[in-house]
Amino acid sequence: MRPLPLRSRAASLALTAGLVALGVASAPSPPTALRVVLDAGHGGTDPGAVGSGLLEKDLNLEVVLRLRDLLDADTADPAGGAEWEVLLTRTTDAYVSLSDRVALANGWPADRFLSIHHNGFSSSSANGTETFSFANGTLGANLRDLAQEELLLALGLTDRGTKTANFFVLSQTSMPAALTEAGFMTNPGDMAVIGNDAGLQAEAEALLFALQRHVGAAPYLPGPTSGTYCDPKQNSAGCLPAIGSSGLPSLTGAPVTVTCEGVPPGTFGMLIWSTQADALPFFGGTLCVASPLGRFSPVVSTPWAGPCGGRLEQPLDPVWLLTQGFSAGASVHLQWWHRDPALVVNPVGLSEGLRLVIQP
Ligand SMILES: [Zn+2]
Repeated sequence: MRPLPLRSRAASLALTAGLVALGVASAPSPPTALRVVLDAGHGGTDPGAVGSGLLEKDLNLEVVLRLRDLLDADTADPAGGAEWEVLLTRTTDAYVSLSDRVALANGWPADRFLSIHHNGFSSSSANGTETFSFANGTLGANLRDLAQEELLLALGLTDRGTKTANFFVLSQTSMPAALTEAGFMTNPGDMAVIGNDAGLQAEAEALLFALQRHVGAAPYLPGPTSGTYCDPKQNSAGCLPAIGSSGLPSLTGAPVTVTCEGVPPGTFGMLIWSTQADALPFFGGTLCVASPLGRFSPVVSTPWAGPCGGRLEQPLDPVWLLTQGFSAGASVHLQWWHRDPALVVNPVGLSEGLRLVIQP
């Protein structure tokens, strides 16, 4: 559990010396950001484990994408945590061979390799969390031990322990590597914890904390940053249309313009906004029923510009933000909610969500 400071050139050289002492071949680490490859296990024609109607490849990717976002946010947030450069072995539901995954990490070269899996077994009674490295007493084992500890803290599942294994991605990567199996997809109890948004987010945050502790930093959840997210929980056809903003809203500055691009003409829909990512309860909305436009309470005094289709624009002004009780540093979440003609049953779609941090 010894700390591994990486924030200075001296510390970086010390780490390199440590790697040599451990017999691990690796290029010297950059003086600041640690290069991490996140590996979402399986993908494409290889689904991995199956359970509760979900596929392991999808859970693995979901955790990896969330962890990537957390690491990026940690890097952008100067207040705590550490700095990271992140590369993914896959960002979509694609088949990537094990040798290609290893080649990506070795060729970069990465400083660490973290492979995300979820378990499966022929008996549904098998359950719990286990994490692997190639050998004991290595930096990979240190990362493994911290990942296991944080996953247990976050998820509260059975502790199956830390283990060594001759997995290809652990034995053939030339940098310290660990592989997590946070829970069993074939166990309903485990899936009740990890098979949902909250569980996947908790898992990603646990792995963020493990990586932070691995480099000698305290566990730190980065502060809110502006960005987009996609919430496919409802019957969204895939986070369309696109949503964007001309800038960050301010309590004192000029209004910013929220835009929805590619809205099908004549679509029934509305822009909804809230303090919460799931937009429930939403604070307000701007209704678009072909033409003209109507408004929900609370109203915004500025009318929607342009036709109800194609590119839609909606000002987000300081007066409204203040009357709604928003303060500087808080987030406002916006999504375009619409009836999607491509969906026959319950044709409700949601755009990608936009999270904007309100400036003073
Ligand atoms: Zn797997």
